[in-house]
Amino acid sequence: MERIDPFGLKAEDFFKNFCGESLTFDDLCILQPYTIDFPVSDVSLATRISRNIEINTPLAASPMEDISEYRMAISVALQGFPAIIHYNLSIYEQAEQVRRVKRFENGFVKDPITLGPEDTISRAIEIRNSTGISTLPIVSKKKLVGLLTKNDYSGQKHAHMMVSSRMVPLDRLKHQIVRLGDLPAEDSARLQKANDILLDSHAGVLLIVDDSTEIDSLVTRTDIEKSEAYPDSIKDRNNSLIVGAAVQTNLGEVKERASELVKAGVDFLCIDSSHGNSTHERDVLQYLKKEYSHIDVIYGNVATAGAALKGIQWGADAIRVGKGVGSICSTSQVSLGSRSQITATYACAKAVREYCFKNQIEPSVPVISDGGYSTFSAIGKGLLFADVIMLGSMLAGTDEAPGKVIYDRQGRELKEYKGMGSLEAMRRGSAARYDEEDGGDMVGEGVVGSVRYKGPVSGWVPKIKNGIRKCFQSLGVRDLSSLHEAVFNGAVLMERMSEAGKREAGIHDLTEYKMDLPLD
Ligand code: 5GP
Repeated sequence: MERIDPFGLKAEDFFKNFCGESLTFDDLCILQPYTIDFPVSDVSLATRISRNIEINTPLAASPMEDISEYRMAISVALQGFPAIIHYNLSIYEQAEQVRRVKRFENGFVKDPITLGPEDTISRAIEIRNSTGISTLPIVSKKKLVGLLTKNDYSGQKHAHMMVSSRMVPLDRLKHQIVRLGDLPAEDSARLQKANDILLDSHAGVLLIVDDSTEIDSLVTRTDIEKSEAYPDSIKDRNNSLIVGAAVQTNLGEVKERASELVKAGVDFLCIDSSHGNSTHERDVLQYLKKEYSHIDVIYGNVATAGAALKGIQWGADAIRVGKGVGSICSTSQVSLGSRSQITATYACAKAVREYCFKNQIEPSVPVISDGGYSTFSAIGKGLLFADVIMLGSMLAGTDEAPGKVIYDRQGRELKEYKGMGSLEAMRRGSAARYDEEDGGDMVGEGVVGSVRYKGPVSGWVPKIKNGIRKCFQSLGVRDLSSLHEAVFNGAVLMERMSEAGKREAGIHDLTEYKMDLPLD
């Protein structure tokens, strides 16, 4: 292989050269290995969040109180990556958050909510207010007899009336009913056919019934519209959005929580601990893999090659890397075990890659680099080694992050963003993440702060995605596996940036300037 430059070092030689030093994003200069012969739009961002879950954008939203609840989870899943619902919620609330994401976009709405003809319209209004669902098949003795949608009643005028007096009866629904047996058996072909019939019918919903006219499922036009508007969205086999959820390292609590989360339809679990490589996390991981072998589990956080490999040996489906590097994190001031994020990510990714190759673990175990990411180029550098970058602060300022917009003294819009290790969050449940007992002498490992307001996810995240594409294109690679191949086979060369180089790489020698991105 032709070496592109005499001074840069291959990744392995580079990190050996800096053995004993912990390096991070700004320390790294990456030399362009290949000629660029394609536009940014040709870059694919597909990857896997865990061994068995493919996603379309190499990002994940962190399981934090101020980041990942159902609104964030829906918005980022439409953009191609999952959020992990945090666990500072009661078991019921967390499972309900998962359910709200799973219900958002269904191919076939299985088991749809139904009413009887003798119910009152006020019952339909209650369902609409509590679940957002307004399309209700009407069923008598299990058989479909009509359909009620929000177009069929006025809340003020008809609340006391019986459903039978406002529903559209069966004989006027013929064009929007299809027999299950008339659709293909295979999932995606069945959905495609059902969507085609629905579009031809000019109706808003298609009702699918079995041979005895019992309702089997339905397909709605809003779901088709959502699919078309978000081509990158990530979905499960039933066409619902993909979502993860966090659990603690306390086995007793996890047993109950995991069972409810799985019932709610969660796609994967994340054991959320800032101090990975512990026997209690091992016990939780082994329990989850034994009890729910079909659910992928993310294990972490680790920062060394040895801890990452233990995770795999204990059964992990993805390894989360990052200790003491998050923007809101004060671990480095109160505890040990932290490591600068680029060195940690390289060490873990290299070990995991080699271990999976040697032991023929296929698909291999993805590495998620978590914490410290605040620019597009930092994400690009993390992806030299990792499969996914987990974001906290970069998403905290969006509309979909829980929490209100606040203003600073200059009137700038901000949003509050606190660490899960801040005393405030720990008192609500995350103390276990830091192996703290909930008592008077808790030592916080995080702070309460704020970040710049960034508007809706649908405006901000496409910019991040394009930034990542530009990082790939600037090296002449079209996708993540080509990038990893180039890095680990030595085609990508790197250098340590000097302190003077860092100043030069920043914006300099201007009296004033304006940024066109909401990055600090
Ligand atoms: P950010 O993207 O804001 O730089 O980092 C987010 C990551 O920081 C989270 O995914 C999580 O791993 C970590 N984290 C969240 N809260 C705390 C905290 O209070 N203390 C520490 N040590 N880490 C935190």
